[in-house]
Amino acid sequence: MLSQRCYDLGTARSVIRELFEHGKLRAAEVGADNVFDFSIGNPSVPPPPAVEETLERLLATVDPLTLHGYTSAQGDFAVREQLAASLSRRFGHRYDASQLYLTVGAAAALCCVFHALTLPGDEYILFAPYFPEYKVFLEGAGAKVNILPPKYPDFQIDLAALDAALTPHTKGVLINSPNNPSGAVYTADTLAALGQLLARRSQEYGHPIYLISDEPYREIVFGGVSSPWAPDFYPDTIVCYSYSKSLSLPGERIGYVLVGRSVADGERVYAAVAGAGRTLGYVNAPSLFQRVAAECDGLCADTSVYAQNRELLTAELGKLGYDTSHPPQGTFYYFLPTLESDDVAFCEKAKALDLLLVPGSGFGAAGYARLSFCVPTERILRAIPVFAALSKQYGR
Ligand code: PLP
Repeated sequence: MLSQRCYDLGTARSVIRELFEHGKLRAAEVGADNVFDFSIGNPSVPPPPAVEETLERLLATVDPLTLHGYTSAQGDFAVREQLAASLSRRFGHRYDASQLYLTVGAAAALCCVFHALTLPGDEYILFAPYFPEYKVFLEGAGAKVNILPPKYPDFQIDLAALDAALTPHTKGVLINSPNNPSGAVYTADTLAALGQLLARRSQEYGHPIYLISDEPYREIVFGGVSSPWAPDFYPDTIVCYSYSKSLSLPGERIGYVLVGRSVADGERVYAAVAGAGRTLGYVNAPSLFQRVAAECDGLCADTSVYAQNRELLTAELGKLGYDTSHPPQGTFYYFLPTLESDDVAFCEKAKALDLLLVPGSGFGAAGYARLSFCVPTERILRAIPVFAALSKQYGR
């Protein structure tokens, strides 16, 4: 006998992975240039030059036994000090090493937090559309998940729905801004109202409701939008961050959990996060990239190609009858209303044209398709006639 849950997770691919694999097979059959794969969110721009420079310097100057050795489970102390100083400078708080826990990307950060906080019967609220792995991570930690419907068309938070959904069993609320897949960035007003509501309910229930802020796309924003710092609006905020997208380092697996001083029972929460890391067998985050992250925190890859792709899609798809009235404010995903209400049928029609889009229902938002535009611009240019052929099927 083995774990049915793990078996099922290990044998069923996510819709995104399924499409991505399909794209590779089709590329072998019809040629890569004839497949328009917008399925996966793998950054398409190189890391900023500072990453390579830092790597070269570290390799040349740091004793290899140190550089490639185990670090403290929480992350190397000097790395955490340097990172805390950087975050303090950037966000105007006083963070220190004892509040930072380095992780194997945002995925591990989230898993450690969920395992650290969750008791049997605890529930977490998340907002559709959402990153589908959240459910896997939360259920893996034994939590119940309550997914609230999307707030169309701006994908901010429906506070009335949240108010109605909170219960004394709510352990946490999970937010992701800039959002995968909607591209929405929560405004300061949204976060302020959210903070007030959670503070009121925490007081009413006599225990904190933690706000877990998953922010791997923090720096990838467009058109002068900026992403407010969630802890400014609610003291019991735990930040989960990743350098996968900002520094284009998804394969290096580096990120952190930040449990600031203002978090209720913060020192114990931090210790439990470290304990969760132990339980899950992470040992420590990759040693070399801990150092790179600390040196390069706050930098971002040159995302001008993402901005250019976003503009191009907005202009060209708009001309073809697609609704581009809500372009993404951040991330590298376009969340496009589909031309029929059945988003799965729409994406199947697209797939028949070798145009690979992910149905919104996989993210809890039917009637939309996600298009990852972290691709070379020329792929978008070549795909425009295919989008035209698709919209023609709908009489546009
Ligand atoms: N959270 C969101 C919203 C994501 O989109 C992703 C990856 O795409 C992750 C977390 C996981 O990121 P990481 O590569 O840092 O584990």
